[in-house]
Amino acid sequence: MAPRRTLNFIDGDFRTTSSARLFENRSPIDGRIVSMVEEASAEMVDRAVRAAKAALDGPWGRLSLKERCDLLFAVADGIERRFDDFLAAEIADTGKPDVLARAVDIPRGAANFRIFADLVRATPEHYFPQDTPDGAGAINYTVRKPKGVVAVISPWNLPFLLMTWKVAPALACGNTVVAKPSEETPSTAALLGEVMRDAGVPAGVYNVVHGFGPNSTGEFLTRHPLVDAITFTGETRTGEAIMKASAVGVRDISAELGGKNAALVFADCDLDKAVAGTVRSAFTNCGQVCLCTERVYVERPIFDEFVARLKAATEKLTQGHPNAAGVDTGPLISAGHREKVLSYYEIAKADGARVVTGGGIPDLGPDLAGGAWVEPTIWTGLPETSRVIREEIFGPCCHVQPFDTEDEAVRLANDSQYGLATVVWTENLSRAHRVAAKIDVGIAWVNTWNLRDLRTPFGGAKQSGIGREGGQFSLDFYSEIKNVCIKL
Ligand code: NAD
Repeated sequence: MAPRRTLNFIDGDFRTTSSARLFENRSPIDGRIVSMVEEASAEMVDRAVRAAKAALDGPWGRLSLKERCDLLFAVADGIERRFDDFLAAEIADTGKPDVLARAVDIPRGAANFRIFADLVRATPEHYFPQDTPDGAGAINYTVRKPKGVVAVISPWNLPFLLMTWKVAPALACGNTVVAKPSEETPSTAALLGEVMRDAGVPAGVYNVVHGFGPNSTGEFLTRHPLVDAITFTGETRTGEAIMKASAVGVRDISAELGGKNAALVFADCDLDKAVAGTVRSAFTNCGQVCLCTERVYVERPIFDEFVARLKAATEKLTQGHPNAAGVDTGPLISAGHREKVLSYYEIAKADGARVVTGGGIPDLGPDLAGGAWVEPTIWTGLPETSRVIREEIFGPCCHVQPFDTEDEAVRLANDSQYGLATVVWTENLSRAHRVAAKIDVGIAWVNTWNLRDLRTPFGGAKQSGIGREGGQFSLDFYSEIKNVCIKL
């Protein structure tokens, strides 16, 4: 049987062209072809952007805030009604364990539409009273307007969650979107087109174009002059390229980029929690979360015990088919990404690492032999100059290094071009606040990892990004805030 086709969703329906180039969407579980995907040409991207532009002035632009939000609630309901379809699509594209996609990715995708619809309705405008020295004789107030057409460029690691984290607030604020999911994970973005259509979202409000980055769909989209703002999550180098594109026409950009996140484990921590937390922060989603810990610094008195316990806990992780019971980790996203991760496994050995556990390819039997599997891996003994310590690997691996003082721990954590997230493990309250304040990151967790209140700001310092998403911070990015001044 021929594999099914994944089509671009433009102006309210799926579009196919006989001249479209096709690319393979392969499952990383076993290498089989999930679907053949139509790559959107420059002409298709233009069609999508023009449809999004027209929708701003069409029925979508004329909806009241309540009507718009009611549609977003209907989208959330529609995702939940088709939960099993989204779940199956996400697992086939990414190989992530059923238990993870079921608990996090798909429910959060639906929740994003509700959260931002609720939030936008509850957001008051600013009002500046006249009875102050500055405001005498006039009333000033703000009005939020949509920015216009928003290009949404998303990665493959949490495809549905991260795309909806952008699409939902963009639509809540009244924008229209053209989304380009990663070429590795096109399926859930396409499914969302069906949900949007069935929920009655007007044509042109949500468009999906499939394809690659440079000289392909992503570049056609980010360079399109009718795109008013770009929201991007992905690698730092890609972020730089997209920022250059956004500079033409002075378009707004929000960029959530890479990380090389540290964990600081102090001798006064709760060791059980620190070990369990580090296993989660290093190996969740096979290490493919931007927030994952790849550098672990442990205070010297507990170093040996921590490493021994981390090794034991890591070796208990079960790798296997995402749909099998009791599976903790799936494969990497693709054969290509596995080559990259394995190249770092080789660099670690060449640079003199002690391999505490892992370091290779697991044997999971003939059915999974075509998949992108690697072993969860822990190293010690590398110099801080090693590329394994400096560069984002984005795989199930971490390096553990001892430290002697709090100042040294902070210095090591901050010694990175990235600044996304850090975890501090300590039971000393003063130390927790002190260290959290000194770390140059967007998110400092204490005694937990990836605990997210969706109203809070999310984003990176240094080369981990610009801007913040989450709650009000998202609404600010997706709105043009206009001041109205009335002389009395
Ligand atoms: P990537 O940068 O390779 O690709 C991301 C998206 O950008 C894809 O859709 C891709 O097709 C597109 N793209 C690539 N080049 C482009 C170009 N020149 N113009 C327009 N679009 C282009 O990233 P990835 O490999 O898909 O994802 C992994 C990376 O994402 C890691 O670096 C990870 O840290 C980062 N990430 C960051 C966050 C965060 O919130 N900070 C969250 C998740 C992932």
